[in-house]
Amino acid sequence: IKRIGVLTSGGDAPGMNAAIRAVVRAGFYYNLEMYGIYRGYEGMIQDDIKKLESKNIAHVLERGGTFLKSARSSEFRTPEGRKKAYNNLVKHGIDALVIIGGDGSLTGAHLFYNEFGIPSIGLPGTIDNDLAGTDLTIGFDTACNTAIEAIDKIRDTATSHDRLFFVEVMGRDAGFIAINAGIGSAAAATLIPEKKMPIERLVERLKARTKAMKSSNIVIVAEGGKSGGAVEIAEKIKKELPYYDIKVTILGHLQRGGAPSSLDRVLASKLGVFAVEGLMQGKYDVMAGIINNKVVFTPISKAIVGHKEVDEDDFRIAKILST
Ligand code: ATP
Repeated sequence: IKRIGVLTSGGDAPGMNAAIRAVVRAGFYYNLEMYGIYRGYEGMIQDDIKKLESKNIAHVLERGGTFLKSARSSEFRTPEGRKKAYNNLVKHGIDALVIIGGDGSLTGAHLFYNEFGIPSIGLPGTIDNDLAGTDLTIGFDTACNTAIEAIDKIRDTATSHDRLFFVEVMGRDAGFIAINAGIGSAAAATLIPEKKMPIERLVERLKARTKAMKSSNIVIVAEGGKSGGAVEIAEKIKKELPYYDIKVTILGHLQRGGAPSSLDRVLASKLGVFAVEGLMQGKYDVMAGIINNKVVFTPISKAIVGHKEVDEDDFRIAKILST
């Protein structure tokens, strides 16, 4: 391997810059040439590819987002699009790839490897934490910190006015951010897509808390839940709890931004170095992840199937601490 191309794809996540930097620095350390593929697979198709120098990765570690930019590419989903992308890699002499993204991006990487056999390694870059083969994904910790910080602020106003707040957090169809935010911010209840909580049970719990004179009530709702998002749940519960001033806050994209936490910086840095070393050792079509604080390579085919489950203990703890 002489020339590695690195790209970020799908939803951006804090720590992606730290991962790119680590990949590029490790590449330089091993005397490899490093290329940035801008705007994910879309840039690979449109030949938005540039050689990276040391200066390109100066002062990016601490910044949120991704300086290589990210995109969703429908053309990459077609064989013609992927062929165009491959031809551009050949044109630049790129003989290996590091793909940083979520399950969709890694699915694309797996397909691309099977079609063209270009040595590639994936890194889990998504705030959702929904990839198997790693305890944590890059960006998850920062997103949880951001959510908790925002909820702390919401609690101040909730307490001052006896308000009942429904706060919607991100995570697509996974409840990891929600359950963490629920435990970390003393939520009255946490609704996640993986576990159905009937509205009647939620009403019961909130009524019990009212009786116990709890000074504030915050319910965390994961987006993508089967009973709907925070707006729908708040609407359904309104008539059951008429004495409450019910408010809804959707945290939305603010959870994606901001400087990465120390945990995300270190995780991204470790995985970035291992990605380059993995490629040099002939580990292809795998994702580098962290399990029990050790870097582990998992075949991408295994990382993208078998949706990781929210830990049963986490769910139990959230319940115990909110009752
Ligand atoms: P996040 O979890 O943060 O949303 P993601 O990587 O899952 O990130 P997606 O939009 O699902 O985000 O995927 C990113 C890109 O990966 C897509 O726009 C597409 O170009 C490519 N991709 C996804 N699935 C496939 C697939 N089945 N075949 C080929 N390419 C794919």
